[in-house]
Amino acid sequence: MLLCICTTSAADGLLSGTPIGSSPSVDYSNNASATTTKNLPADAFDGNLNTFFASYDRSYTWVGLDLGSPHIITRVGWSPRNDGLGPGRMVLGVFEGANQSDFSDALPIYLNDQQGVIGQMDYADVSCSLGFRYVRYIGPNDARCNIAELAFYGHRGNGDSTQLYRPTNLPCVVIHTKDMQLPYDKVNYIESYVQIISPDNSVLKDTAGLRLRGNASTNFPKKPYRLKFNTKHKVLGSPANAKNWTLINNYGDKTLMRNIVAFHVSEVMEMPYTPFCRAVDVLVNGEYKGCYQLSDKIEVKKGRVSIDEMEPTDLVGSALSGGYLWEIDGYAYLEPQPYYSPYGMPITLHSPKDDQIVPTQRTYFENYFRALEDKVYKASATNTEWRSYIDFMTFGRYFLTNEMCGNPDVFWSCYMYKKRDDQKAYFGPVWDFDIAFDNDDRQYPEANHTQFIFGGASNADGFARHIAFADQRSRDELTELWHRGRNRGISAEELTAFVDSVAQALDASQHLNFLRWPILSQRVHQNPVALGSYAAEVDRLKQFLTMRVSWMDNKLGYTWHPFNNTDANETVIRDNEGYRIYDMHGRMIYEGDELPSLPQGIYIIQHHNQTEKIIR
Ligand code: CA
Repeated sequence: MLLCICTTSAADGLLSGTPIGSSPSVDYSNNASATTTKNLPADAFDGNLNTFFASYDRSYTWVGLDLGSPHIITRVGWSPRNDGLGPGRMVLGVFEGANQSDFSDALPIYLNDQQGVIGQMDYADVSCSLGFRYVRYIGPNDARCNIAELAFYGHRGNGDSTQLYRPTNLPCVVIHTKDMQLPYDKVNYIESYVQIISPDNSVLKDTAGLRLRGNASTNFPKKPYRLKFNTKHKVLGSPANAKNWTLINNYGDKTLMRNIVAFHVSEVMEMPYTPFCRAVDVLVNGEYKGCYQLSDKIEVKKGRVSIDEMEPTDLVGSALSGGYLWEIDGYAYLEPQPYYSPYGMPITLHSPKDDQIVPTQRTYFENYFRALEDKVYKASATNTEWRSYIDFMTFGRYFLTNEMCGNPDVFWSCYMYKKRDDQKAYFGPVWDFDIAFDNDDRQYPEANHTQFIFGGASNADGFARHIAFADQRSRDELTELWHRGRNRGISAEELTAFVDSVAQALDASQHLNFLRWPILSQRVHQNPVALGSYAAEVDRLKQFLTMRVSWMDNKLGYTWHPFNNTDANETVIRDNEGYRIYDMHGRMIYEGDELPSLPQGIYIIQHHNQTEKIIR
């Protein structure tokens, strides 16, 4: 007798049940007229590879079985419809299991990324320990769910959720909308049930509203979404406990990581708050939608922009002074009540919101911004009043992060905030790098530009220029912040290594993403070039980062030198080595045996093989 060591139990037979599915299509005759032959759900379970199920609707359609009681599925099988399109119509087909008859609680159990073979069954093992009463196959986009045969294998049982399926190594966001409605605008939320499966098999489950979000990105076929959970959650280890989350589509960004890299730069540059984000796979109503970024919504909240949130009753004194969160916003004209500053900057108030802010607060904000803007535009070597209105540390970090990333949107959309009892305006968080890193045909190639990107024509460029180059102190402080960043991880080597690590983590997901959206050889959005492969897009990103670090060094008149290059093994103090003093541009301004008296400023002093920064 043969001993069989199998991962599936002996009871894992072919399962039978009641065939269920979307409304079927009818066959058409050779002269394109409808016949009475329907392609029913039962046709996918009749053991005949020449009969098939096909749905009436083109997408989000499915066929499956009601097993009568929960079963743990250990294997699925399929065969394509026997016609020219059949094999290709299997790519990105998704298998799901559920315990609600409307599949609202469905979880994926397998995603197929291969073409089918006519006249043959293909099989895949399923690794999901949870039992399901209802199982189904959802055809990919525009395939009318054409399929000749389906097979589910398994055994009866409720199982448990110790092992769940994800299409790739990334967390998976599984969304089912009520009656399979799809979000259609940025106002109306569609009632949904959302499950986010983590790599550790934990699942966040809640009802949520789903709507579109974004501006230019809303028009792409791969839609960006806003999720609003019924209750607050920390998602995938996020700092914030919040209801509102964004799913960024990264359609025009074929590296799928421009925002991830930019947020990394923001963190290295020590922005006080960088939005949380995680790359995820997204499924909506059983259809694979691609690799997205689940990210914070920019809002006033602990763990996000953590300032006082104003109440409508905050009308005097300290309470009236903040917090406020606003955006210099090229799309402000689309908002219900935008504010245009005296110098013509369009501003969207985010907290309190444009259309909710009480008049006293709106007046306070407008007066405040008018005063701030006026001081900035009057900035000069002798007029530094603007410094009592602008937090230069966040301005400089914001500016340098965006310039390092080559973001043409930098002052087209620029978040700022004001704290309670603090007159200064703070910059940040950074946001939206879709067309950064040389992904804008209007700017391409960035290497040919001799000016900072914000020297362009967008809303707040003049405003930013006045702050960045108000005087020598501003220029020195920018260089000083750049110097800090260079010592903390802004280098060609470290940034390209970071990109490589992200590319590795995204590899399985990018493969599926570009099966779903085959645009690698096509210029979309503002793409200056289309390189035909994911690897080539990632290489181009790395080349940009390498170029940009030196470009920034040159532009800031900066030569890299470490804050502290003390060699732990260096024990001999060579007294005769003397002093070398560098200014913040990396220029050596003194070499000699005595430490000279220095004018006010920031210097790097090398002495006895030790380097230190001093402020005089
Ligand atoms: Ca059949």
